[in-house]
Amino acid sequence: MSIRILVSNDDGAQAPGLQALVEAVSDLGEVWVVAPESEQSASSHSLSLHRPLRIRKLKPNFFAVDGTPADCVHLAVNHLMKDKKPSLVLSGINHGPNLADDIFYSGTVAAAREGALLGFPAIAFSLAARSPWDFAAGAKFARSLAQAALHMKLPGRALLNVNIPGQPKDLGYEITQLGRHSYGSEVVEKTDPRGRRYYWIGGSDYDFEPIEGSDCMAIHTHQRISVTPLRLDLTGVDHLPMLRSWQLEGFAGGA
Ligand code: MN
Repeated sequence: MSIRILVSNDDGAQAPGLQALVEAVSDLGEVWVVAPESEQSASSHSLSLHRPLRIRKLKPNFFAVDGTPADCVHLAVNHLMKDKKPSLVLSGINHGPNLADDIFYSGTVAAAREGALLGFPAIAFSLAARSPWDFAAGAKFARSLAQAALHMKLPGRALLNVNIPGQPKDLGYEITQLGRHSYGSEVVEKTDPRGRRYYWIGGSDYDFEPIEGSDCMAIHTHQRISVTPLRLDLTGVDHLPMLRSWQLEGFAGGA
């Protein structure tokens, strides 16, 4: 087959969501899987620059790496697939949502973003539900969107973030922008058996703002799939004039 598709994730090479995504796109091209050995959720975009990485071949075109999601895509593109690069990089299907600010922490989104940074079109998929996981609707949508991305020629460096509701009301989807949400800010403090304090972060008090056209609204209010295009260039263009108007004492320039 002439087309290669790279699939990765942050839940690990054995994750059912990865399996569902691989099966969904298996007839669209030659599927290569390079995924973390163990769960790497919320690992964001970290690269392992200060230790060796091991690659373990699990079956033909299917590899586990003892690193992060970004490590996996980096090794796939620049080593395992270097003779023939992928036409599309997919990540997921994540076990859990990646909405709004989640994209900054998500390993799922980071795997796709690494693909985009290396010059390939990339899509991250996440199931916005809790266990028991049902990836059927997400897999079906992933196949349809991947097929469109290949045929309509989603350009290199384009990155899409997709969330699928646990109980889709219909097979509708919305093109969205990132919403705003919060998990709460509570830090739980406890004492360990040796009398030392320890802390748990990651709140359990979820709330989102009802912003029309946002990924949070599509998922939580409309129970519809959200597709959010993301930029790689995070420059705060709106703030350039303000920042240029500041004159820092003792330093020249700034304009
Ligand atoms: Mn995950």
